[in-house]
Amino acid sequence: MNPLVLICGLNVRARFIMNNEKIESCQIPKFSFPVQRPNFSLGLTSISDHAKNLIIKQYTRCVSYYGKNNVRYTKTCKPHLSKIFITDTKQSYYPEWQIDLKILEKKYKGIFLENQNSILKLQFDMDYCNQCKEKIYNTKLICNSCGNIAHPPKKLWSHSYLCSECGKTLCKQCTHYVRKWLILKRKLCRECGLTFESNSAKVKKLLK
Ligand SMILES: [Zn+2]
Ligand SMILES: [Zn+2]
Ligand SMILES: [Zn+2]
Repeated sequence: MNPLVLICGLNVRARFIMNNEKIESCQIPKFSFPVQRPNFSLGLTSISDHAKNLIIKQYTRCVSYYGKNNVRYTKTCKPHLSKIFITDTKQSYYPEWQIDLKILEKKYKGIFLENQNSILKLQFDMDYCNQCKEKIYNTKLICNSCGNIAHPPKKLWSHSYLCSECGKTLCKQCTHYVRKWLILKRKLCRECGLTFESNSAKVKKLLK
């Protein structure tokens, strides 16, 4: 695991502070390297311009509708710059943490913003299922063969499995199987698959 890196920089974080989930309590270790605080160099106008552009980006929507001629139209609705009023701005320093993790073969990155009370998650690769690329909001599964993250096992169309022999957690790419009766597949990890193969069973990978 790489060391934690702390970057103190000036950024308008309005978008992140509005949107991202908070981690309630987390003990951050004391850092053993110097922390630099660069001077604020943005004027009030450039801060509010930057904030307005973030707001425009966040609230721009593509809508579709049917006209009287029954034809479908699409239109991009965007708040106009002159309709957004910033009444006040406040500049604050927020330490930003970048954490690089390695689980077996897979590397993950996390970016967090910290204040006195809580930590804000800006980006965390481990929140996404490697199979469907969707965000996982609840329990995640870490594949014990390759380190992939996946949705937890379910009965149909599962993105992960548990080895039926040893219980090892597996992503879909690392899952092997042997036929059980005619239609069922008995899911196995590579190691348990090898044991089955040594007993002349036909073991296949779930994904080609
Ligand atoms: Zn998934
Ligand atoms: Zn895997
Ligand atoms: Zn196994």
